[in-house]
Amino acid sequence: MFLVLLGMPGSGKGTQAQFIKESFGVPHISTGDIFREAIKAETPLGQKAKGYLDRGELVPDELVTDIVKERIEKDDCRNGFILDGYPRTVNQAEALDTIMQKKGISLTSVVDFRITPDEAVRRLSSRRSCSSCSAVYNLLHKMPKEEGKCDLCGGKLYQRDDDREDVIRNRLKVYELQTAPIIEYYEKQNNISHIDAEAQIASIRESITELLGSKAQK
Ligand code: AMP
Repeated sequence: MFLVLLGMPGSGKGTQAQFIKESFGVPHISTGDIFREAIKAETPLGQKAKGYLDRGELVPDELVTDIVKERIEKDDCRNGFILDGYPRTVNQAEALDTIMQKKGISLTSVVDFRITPDEAVRRLSSRRSCSSCSAVYNLLHKMPKEEGKCDLCGGKLYQRDDDREDVIRNRLKVYELQTAPIIEYYEKQNNISHIDAEAQIASIRESITELLGSKAQK
């Protein structure tokens, strides 16, 4: 199961990726999480990426593609992976195709999570993330059991710097300009499914299960 999850920031890709990971036993690769971890650990990668994340801009293509390439070479990706947040430009989508062709594999499916920009702003500004395990909560519909504390690991919840409204607006602009054209790229390959990501979490989950179930049978 080789999946790409596409969609605006806040469209729920990460939440559903967690569920797909558990159901299908394939690793969840979030390039955003990789950068945030590197920034936290103050590695050279983190130092290179920090300014871009702070401003809500995209990290240069070569840097991201190198990381993804290295990650999907790992043993746990032999039978599949869920890419969340990559590709984000047509250039990255082409690079991913090249990497996969060289490995003799192809994408099982690209799932496009659809929401309006207003809904994205509403969700992102109320999102809270775990500083320890990266689990995601939302003050609107997915509150932690105990305020400020992760249900899974007890870690401290925080608001991502780029989930502030000014940065959110910039991220959505970047999405429209640089990422949305990927949809057409995959439409040409006839390999993309669109999902109403404003539906309830459980019903999105059902749609994905149905979609991936039918793909797995092919
Ligand atoms: P995310 O957690 O997916 O919203 O990503 C957070 C930030 O990480 C983005 O706003 C970018 O600065 C950076 N980032 C993540 N994935 C990519 C990518 N594929 N290409 C460029 N920048 C990325």
